Amino acid sequence: MVSSSKLLFNRASLGRTCRDLWHPQFASCLAYNVHFWRTILPGSFKLYIPFLVLPPLVKLNDVDWRYLWDHTLQYAYISFCTYVQAALSLSAQCGLFHLVGRLNYWCVMFWPCLLGVAIGPPLPNQLLRLQAITFFNMSLEAAVRKSTSPVVRFAHRSNTLATVSFMAFSSIILTCLRSGLVKQFWLVNPDPVVRGSVRCEHPGCCRRHLLDGMLKYGAVGLVLEAGRAVLRQSTLLLRNPLAIFGGKFLRSCNLRLGLFLACYVGIFRAVCCLLARRRGHEQQALMHTALAGFLAGVPYCIYPTYQIYTLGVTKAIEIAWEYCLTVHTGPTIDEEPKSLRTTVLRHLQRLPMLRLVQMCSFGYLGHVYAFYPRVSPVFHQKAMDVCSTDLTLNMKLRLNRWMKEIN
Ligand SMILES: [Zn+2]
Ligand SMILES: [Zn+2]
Repeated sequence: MVSSSKLLFNRASLGRTCRDLWHPQFASCLAYNVHFWRTILPGSFKLYIPFLVLPPLVKLNDVDWRYLWDHTLQYAYISFCTYVQAALSLSAQCGLFHLVGRLNYWCVMFWPCLLGVAIGPPLPNQLLRLQAITFFNMSLEAAVRKSTSPVVRFAHRSNTLATVSFMAFSSIILTCLRSGLVKQFWLVNPDPVVRGSVRCEHPGCCRRHLLDGMLKYGAVGLVLEAGRAVLRQSTLLLRNPLAIFGGKFLRSCNLRLGLFLACYVGIFRAVCCLLARRRGHEQQALMHTALAGFLAGVPYCIYPTYQIYTLGVTKAIEIAWEYCLTVHTGPTIDEEPKSLRTTVLRHLQRLPMLRLVQMCSFGYLGHVYAFYPRVSPVFHQKAMDVCSTDLTLNMKLRLNRWMKEIN
């Protein structure tokens, strides 16, 4: 089935060039390319300011000069790579127009964005993961909002369904982490099951363990929200620093993230400790964790956001995938005859999954940005506009005008 936006685009773009769409103020593609390669660099550095500021705020206790220096270098590197990715994507818009000879639906945004990331400089694994997961989460958000399927539409509107499915993801994630076979970061990192243990694994008494967790996670939530509010209200605060105590600033702080985190860790730890007291043998520990992880997902209903939900989906997939790989392709069963499943998993394991996810998600997000702006994630729109110093924004507005004229 051909989408209506594609038909509309084909009619609207007839006889038009990349100059009409991207650079009416520059007669030649070369002049335009020189212009943006020279001017868009600061945008990427601006985009990653939260990445520069927030992690040291959260880590507060164990920040030293060495950490700050490494962290700043990472910030500079990811900002520079993003600049190159953005500039390559923009160059590919003109390049693909000349290659195909006309404006093509998929060669506006989708392929150029995908290529920009594919050809762009390689990121170290930690930063690649950050980008790939952020892009994937936003693609998922866009796909859900764009979908016309009645099942997805219902699931999208139903808070109960969202909460129950989040509880299931939480259960999967925490059980895999508790097994000790997977090591990844999640909201709560449970201690791996200790062999032969029929008691709680944490040091100190249960009540203290519970309170510690709730206070720490609640505080992290508050700091994150305060940091976000500072960035959102930066213009106001620059004009008047005392506005930080004013009603307008305080209203823009959302307390629910802290509450969600505190309840999440609180329920998880409380249920784990309660069940550990009635644990007869160590095998029960994983089942108990599954139940505790499931119940810990309940507070999602007080803070139902796309960001937390998609983080849950992505982490559940990623962690379950790593768990399967470790169980089925681990070194311990190397001598046994290989099953089909093991062979398939081994082949899949060799693919650069994160890189593929990063490329495809970025292409898809670019496509949604241009053709379905109403469902495009706000953060992605802002990121595009900031990184291209509004070049993509102007293109989107022009495209929108063309399609309206035809309609
Ligand atoms: Zn051009
Ligand atoms: Zn305990």
